[in-house]
Amino acid sequence: MRKIKLIKSEKKLCLICLEEHEVQTVMLTDTEEYKGGEVSFKAIYEYCSLADEYLETEDMIRENSQAMKDAYRKAN
Ligand SMILES: [Zn+2]
Repeated sequence: MRKIKLIKSEKKLCLICLEEHEVQTVMLTDTEEYKGGEVSFKAIYEYCSLADEYLETEDMIRENSQAMKDAYRKAN
């Protein structure tokens, strides 16, 4: 099972279900394929408990992509 760490929880308009409710910001370990290998890194997502779905905002996409590249550099 994935280890998920809660960073914060905030009542706001949820971009996943488009309702206002507590949206959690979580950190989890993601594994993605990058340059022919698998890279594990810590990624940040928003989580909607109503839809049980994760979403990356534009900032998160940038940060997560940077975290993946850093992890790749460290492992190689
Ligand atoms: Zn939602």
